[in-house]
Amino acid sequence: KRLILIGPPGSGKGTQSPIIKDEYCLCHLATGDMLRAAVAAKTPLGLKAKEAMDKGELVSDDLVVGIIDEAIKKPSCQKGFILDGFPRTEVQAQKLDETLAKHGVKVDKVLNFAIDDAILEERITGRWIHPSSGRTYHTKFAPPKTPGVDDVTGEPLIQRKDDTAGVLKSRLEAFHKQTEPVIRYYSQKGLVADLHAEKPPKEVSAEVQKVLS
Ligand code: ADP
Ligand code: ADP
Ligand code: ADP
Repeated sequence: KRLILIGPPGSGKGTQSPIIKDEYCLCHLATGDMLRAAVAAKTPLGLKAKEAMDKGELVSDDLVVGIIDEAIKKPSCQKGFILDGFPRTEVQAQKLDETLAKHGVKVDKVLNFAIDDAILEERITGRWIHPSSGRTYHTKFAPPKTPGVDDVTGEPLIQRKDDTAGVLKSRLEAFHKQTEPVIRYYSQKGLVADLHAEKPPKEVSAEVQKVLS
């Protein structure tokens, strides 16, 4: 399957993707993770992306379309993929359609992580990440066995620099202005399934299973 996950920051995309990935053996492409890796490695792409990311603004369409075009060509992504955090603008959605059309394939489903903005600050400011695996914890909703430590590897957890109430505001503005039109774009094609993303993780997983079965 070729799936897209759309939702505001903190809506649970990263939490649900490993479950979807394990079930369907898809490759998981998260543009936010790819961009953070590029920033950390100080690659030319990372240097260009950092300023916008620090402010909670979107990186330019050309940069992200470039990384997705490269990634979906990989052999491991031929049978299907999960796009997490991409497309985030209508231009990105159109470019993606063009790329897929060249390969004779299409998007199968768009999972819309619908949730009220009011819940997101608590989710985002309590988020802790194990950077190398992408495993995500929450101080209140999904605490690690030992605070600040990954359950599986024992390695330290980090908080994202942009996971503050202030930067969240800009990220939510970008979501409403630039990414909600993407949901409408796919709704017109009849591809969108709405999830109740405010529910507990297990209930959201059950909704995802139902949509994909
Ligand atoms: P996104 O990838 O959409 O930004 P995450 O999956 O990283 O969101 O979730 C944001 C934070 O909220 C994380 O700390 C995660 O542990 C927690 N979380 C995820 N899903 C839920 C849920 N259904 N209920 C409560 N907390 C959740
Ligand atoms: P979130 O928790 O908001 O879902 P992500 O990890 O997906 O965060 O993205 C972090 C940042 O990376 C965004 O605020 C934005 O600056 C940049 N970014 C990620 N994906 C895209 C994209 N498709 N288009 C433009 N910018 C992006
Ligand atoms: P800084 O940008 O000051 O180095 P951050 O708190 O933004 O600090 O991130 C610390 C390190 O973890 C950086 O190398 C960053 O690229 C990486 N990182 C942050 N969030 C993630 C994530 N979700 N996945 C992978 N790596 C991440």
